[in-house]
Amino acid sequence: MVITDYDRFLSKRSKARKPSAIRALQPLIALPGMISLGGGLPHPSTFPILDMSFTLTNGDSLTISENEMRRALQYSNTNGLPDLIEWLKQLQIEEHKPKYDFDICIGNGSQDVLSKAFEMLLNENDSILIEKPAYTGALAFLRPMGLTFVDIETDGNGIIPEKLEEALENWDDSKPRPKCIYTVPIAGNPTGVSVSLERKKRVYELAQKYDFIILEDDPYYYLQFSERIPSYFSMDVDGRVLRFDSFSKILSSGIRIGWVSGPKPLVNRIVLHTQAANLHASGLSQTFALSILRRWGVFGFMEHAKKTAAFYKQKRDIFIESAEKYLDGLAEWNTPTAGMFIWLKLLGIDDSETLIKKKAIEKKVLMVPGFEFFPNNDVTPYVRASYSTATKEEIDEALKRLASLLRDAIAS
Ligand code: PMP
Repeated sequence: MVITDYDRFLSKRSKARKPSAIRALQPLIALPGMISLGGGLPHPSTFPILDMSFTLTNGDSLTISENEMRRALQYSNTNGLPDLIEWLKQLQIEEHKPKYDFDICIGNGSQDVLSKAFEMLLNENDSILIEKPAYTGALAFLRPMGLTFVDIETDGNGIIPEKLEEALENWDDSKPRPKCIYTVPIAGNPTGVSVSLERKKRVYELAQKYDFIILEDDPYYYLQFSERIPSYFSMDVDGRVLRFDSFSKILSSGIRIGWVSGPKPLVNRIVLHTQAANLHASGLSQTFALSILRRWGVFGFMEHAKKTAAFYKQKRDIFIESAEKYLDGLAEWNTPTAGMFIWLKLLGIDDSETLIKKKAIEKKVLMVPGFEFFPNNDVTPYVRASYSTATKEEIDEALKRLASLLRDAIAS
């Protein structure tokens, strides 16, 4: 059923947020004929920067004009520059065909708006449904919040809906029911695996039945190696999905631009938080991204995304080739269909921590031990490897060294 009142999902802290009187004036400044004596804007003529030109790797030259630069350098709307919001809305409409009138708030990377969403929904002692294993960046924010992690098992196809159903069916009603699930459905970090459309539909049905919000953290969405699997956002009829996108893996991670899309009342709460926390994402970064996106259009963006996905597919193939050469019988894995991570199960090893944190480093191989990704700190034989930046030769050498370490560990 369409959600009209989100009060039951909001944390005490989020409910207590009031709009900033000064920030509320910001969109009014741009109204034609408005004489502003209200805001605290520094005078733009004092800024020593006029315009900006840069070159893309394909040789295209782009210029940010004096006018645009003036806007980029000044305080601007909390949710993001209106033209960039409009561009992103168009992207979301073309790609996900959302079924309701959604809003967007741009953040300093998706991590920014994601952490604000966690804070919006969760009180101390609340429970959160979370994939096991889960993205450490999310865990780093969630761990100090005093929550109960209800970890839901995953396999080579991502989250297992039956396990989710089991947790919800057998809920101990002396505890408040979980208000949300946190999931990375495409190229999960750390597992590298993606959730099929059928599983997503089942998870969505469970969200409807048990009335929770889906936090769809999807920075690897455009890095799918074949046809893209439809998002939770695209199937949302109730207004119970908050979708997190990021330019970090396709344009630049340093510009720190990500955005949340979802039902207006929830996005608006994230905007209120932004008003109080960091005012808005960098105007310069937003203008920089917008100038590239305008030059490309949605079609050009998709072409770039396809090329980027093809790059990672090739890197995946290189990794798998070396893994098959050296790790046969020593490790198991699911071949990723998107993204830049692979999740290796080390055979004959109960706990990967010492091997990866100490011995592998001595042999000059860096990987992340699996326990870092377990909400409840399980002991685990898993390890996360990334095939993104290392060369073919480096990947080959690293896996050769890992194989030798594993053989030594099993023998001792
Ligand atoms: N979610 C996941 C699953 C990620 O892997 C990352 C980046 N490591 C983020 C969020 C944060 O991305 P951003 O750079 O947009 O903040």
